[in-house]
Amino acid sequence: MQQNPEEILENSIKAFKLTTKHHGNYTSLERALFLGWYCNLKNPCKFCYMATQKNKIKDPLKARRRLETILAEAILMKRMGWKLEFISGGYGYTSKEINDIVEMVAYVQKSKQYLNVGLVDFDSLNLDVIEGVVGAVEIVNEELHDYICPDKPVGKIKDMLLRAKDLGLKTGITIILGLGEKEEDIEKLLNLIEELELDRITFYSLNPQKGTIFENKPSVTTLEYMNWVSSVRLNFPKIKIITGTWVDKLTNIGPLIMSGSNTITKFPLFSMFGRKEGKTVEKEILSTGRELFGTFSDVDALMGKKKLKNSPYKDEEIEISRENLERVNDLQEEINKKIEFYVKKTLSKIIKETH
Ligand code: SF4
Repeated sequence: MQQNPEEILENSIKAFKLTTKHHGNYTSLERALFLGWYCNLKNPCKFCYMATQKNKIKDPLKARRRLETILAEAILMKRMGWKLEFISGGYGYTSKEINDIVEMVAYVQKSKQYLNVGLVDFDSLNLDVIEGVVGAVEIVNEELHDYICPDKPVGKIKDMLLRAKDLGLKTGITIILGLGEKEEDIEKLLNLIEELELDRITFYSLNPQKGTIFENKPSVTTLEYMNWVSSVRLNFPKIKIITGTWVDKLTNIGPLIMSGSNTITKFPLFSMFGRKEGKTVEKEILSTGRELFGTFSDVDALMGKKKLKNSPYKDEEIEISRENLERVNDLQEEINKKIEFYVKKTLSKIIKETH
């Protein structure tokens, strides 16, 4: 069935109004916190950048980010008023490793976290520092899913998300558009959201990676993207919708907000902050009449010289193990150095652009 563009625009207007009614007049920025560049799935997902790197990585442990880097980024995200969309890594972390990282990130941010790290062993996690769990479904068409993500069976992801709900956690899924899905598949997604009673959904548009079967393939169009987003919004007024974009698609931000998105994600943050691209993101958001949580250009906020008034963060009580508390304290100097490094790097790029 061919999509009807006029209908998509009409639905989007309804979806936008519904979003204002249930979520207010704000749009926020978020970003996933990545743990590393290695995934140990035997048959990796066919669109994945990490899969193309796998053979080049001799020692998977070296492909992990250092703890001080992860924590420094988490602290900077809070300064800028960007929530962490989730803590994310390829498959291959032990439950203890995941628990240690999520505890420390929650502690430095004074904020509970979402996890997107494959199948989670809840018994080994400090659930008090976790807000929710995300399942990387990626594509709802079963045949395509089995072909593209052979080692991520949807059944197991569903079981995990249902268990998370039972434990009182929020749940979400990720969907990538541009993998070959059809308009008819929207119905499947709506059924899945209903079955799992999801609190949120993240859409990404495929960013075709070199060395994958999607290299040189066009991605989803803005109208197609709007169709998926507005369909979810119209059927689930209260769900949080996060939409991913990319540097070459910044002008789809306005249309995505107009079709029901609450939050924009997926940016190479430090190379865009305060520069033309970061300001374009802010302009796109403000052009919809929405106000913006957080900043993509306020250098004083980045440097920690001022606290943002429009931050989505509310400090929460976070209790973590004595061992992890000591680790954070021992790392403090290294974390501060890393923060300084990120800030300097960002500032020098801004200066270069203006000269
Ligand atoms: S699970 Fe994630 S990291 Fe691993 S191959 Fe699939 S998309 Fe890539």
